Amino acid sequence: MIKDIKGLHHVTSMAADANQNNSFFTETLGLRRVKKTVNFDAPEVYHLYYGDEVGTPGSIMTYFPFGNMPKGRRGAGEVGITEFAVPDGSLEFWQNHLAGKGVSGLKTETVFGQNRLNFDGPDGDSFALVESEVRDREAWTGGGISQNAGVLGFNGARFRVRDAAATGELLTFMGYQKAETEGDITRYLIEGGNAADTIDIEQLASAAPVADQGAGSVHHIAFAVNDRAAQLRVRQALMDTGYQVTPVIDRDYFWAIYFRTPGGILFEVATNEPGFDRDEDTAHLGEALKLPSRYEAHRAQIEQLLPPLAA
Ligand code: ZN
Repeated sequence: MIKDIKGLHHVTSMAADANQNNSFFTETLGLRRVKKTVNFDAPEVYHLYYGDEVGTPGSIMTYFPFGNMPKGRRGAGEVGITEFAVPDGSLEFWQNHLAGKGVSGLKTETVFGQNRLNFDGPDGDSFALVESEVRDREAWTGGGISQNAGVLGFNGARFRVRDAAATGELLTFMGYQKAETEGDITRYLIEGGNAADTIDIEQLASAAPVADQGAGSVHHIAFAVNDRAAQLRVRQALMDTGYQVTPVIDRDYFWAIYFRTPGGILFEVATNEPGFDRDEDTAHLGEALKLPSRYEAHRAQIEQLLPPLAA
């Protein structure tokens, strides 16, 4: 069994409009944009990172805004809900705040004893704010949102799959422990990790349509490991179990490996090192367009292709 996974590192989704995405995360949800770079495989598309002050692993929501991308279709084999943690007692604020911003899909419920507010992102993304303990995390107070309400990072995510048992087995192998079940949802928790330590697996009917990725879909979900040595141990353990895992890829702010789960979700394992302040001062994170060195020679062209982004 793997003992190096520390909870979530980041969640990466796809969007249509870059400016709509930027304003939703920085103004409506009050996160900090901690990096403005490009998709390393398609440099004409931004890769935008939002999180807490420094983009602590477990707080980082990232997006590829592809322009006129059609919306995805929700279904089996995807991260169905991306869940952010907010302080206890803050959901009433959020209900009013999000309603005031015209956010759709607002619905409160209690799952596993936690109060939550479901809502839609600009491209129909499925999100929830879950009341949680603060656990040493500090919200970035962007968009005029106070410290008593601000997003603390991820609570976790809910997977929607046809094969809950197989996906659960993989999570167990990755160091998660099966906790409670409520209806069709089983909770998995990781001990000794960061605060983004919860994964819920929702069992869908075997006839449920498969998700079709598009704007508003999660592209992949990344789990955190401390360093590159831990990442290599995880990679080896996965390969020994029969998973096809990519080589280690340098993403400038972390090192990444990827593999696909039995249920169809793309998993990444990302290092906590070196972090988002490796090429910018903490005070100015996310302001300048940062390019991987191989694209630096094409900066002028790339800047022309990218839509200007409001601060
Ligand atoms: Zn990633």
